[in-house]
Amino acid sequence: MTVPFLSFAPQHEPIREEVMAALGQVYDAQWYVLGQHVRDFEAAYSTFSGSRYSIGVANGLDALHLSLVALGIGPGDEVIVPSNTYIATWLAISYVGATPVPVEPDPATYNIDPGRIEAAITPRTKAIMPVHLYGQACEMTAIMEIAGRHNLFVVEDNAQSQGATADGGVTGSFGHANGTSFYPGKNLGALGDAGAVTTNDEALAKKIQTLRNYGSQQKYYNEVIGYNSRLDELHAAVLQVKLQYLPEWTRQRQQVARWYDEHLQGIGDLQLPVTVEGSTHVYHLYVVRTTQRDALQQHLTSAGIGTLIHYPVPPHMQQAYAHMGIMKGAYPIAEDLANTSLSLPMWPGMTEEHVAAVVKGMQTYFR
Ligand SMILES: *Cc1c(COP(=O)(O)O)cnc(C)c1O
Repeated sequence: MTVPFLSFAPQHEPIREEVMAALGQVYDAQWYVLGQHVRDFEAAYSTFSGSRYSIGVANGLDALHLSLVALGIGPGDEVIVPSNTYIATWLAISYVGATPVPVEPDPATYNIDPGRIEAAITPRTKAIMPVHLYGQACEMTAIMEIAGRHNLFVVEDNAQSQGATADGGVTGSFGHANGTSFYPGKNLGALGDAGAVTTNDEALAKKIQTLRNYGSQQKYYNEVIGYNSRLDELHAAVLQVKLQYLPEWTRQRQQVARWYDEHLQGIGDLQLPVTVEGSTHVYHLYVVRTTQRDALQQHLTSAGIGTLIHYPVPPHMQQAYAHMGIMKGAYPIAEDLANTSLSLPMWPGMTEEHVAAVVKGMQTYFR
């Protein structure tokens, strides 16, 4: 049995009629940008994410960028960011002219280690950007406490963890302004690029609504130099349909993870994902670690099992950040994760048979 890394079919086929009807409504309404579907989806997503406001934008990177702009972060400022995130988190900081200051993750949870944050704070530090990586909520109680003590903003990168919780609070509801992504492969995915900012702060919500729409609240009157970063009606209508199914899809991801946990225990030198006490995991990805990562990946590929590496090169080692002059070895945990991590197939609708095929591929390699 072959197992693709990701298949949308079990999510999309059962709701085909409902999604097509939603697309048809947008087509017939003849209103395509910032209309009723965006407003309805924003209200529904606010409720889902335990935030008073949600502002639909063009993608997840813009959600993070506009959050930093709205908070007034700019040149000369430093922003604390995980050393092992997807590069988008760093790019948002670079866009406003601020400097990313990497902090290493806990190698067991893959999330920023709260115990290492304070050592990276300087008089220039303005914000912390925790990333709920792979679907697991960061230790937000500890992070918010540090931010409060040092008077720093918090901008959560919630692109991978819609619906995860930390000490009972939903990701995207802790920080001052938080970004999420509805890129198709995310846990809640549009049929193209889309994203949202969530916040509990009315003034920030207003600023972001203005920034995403040319710096304008009233058509043809521009208050600030804004951007064109709007959520399309088409995407909002689809997201509105899909959001209803997200809790069920999350339960299915968690079931797949339990099967993996059970059957991969003790194979070779495999290290399985660890969920920290108080946090929940919505398994955007199921990431294992092994020193034989590359050979294992090849073996699985030839057995018809799709895998990916998230991520092969940490941001500080990317050519794009060569100007920062960070030496190889400066962030050894991130570098080690990049060399040893492997993401196994993980999607709602995966069956026990799919999981068994992946497990068999792992067993035959390590035997
Ligand atoms: C996907 C992702 C983003 C960016 O989202 P886009 O919608 O692709 O712009 C940001 N941060 C993380 C951690 C992501 O996984």
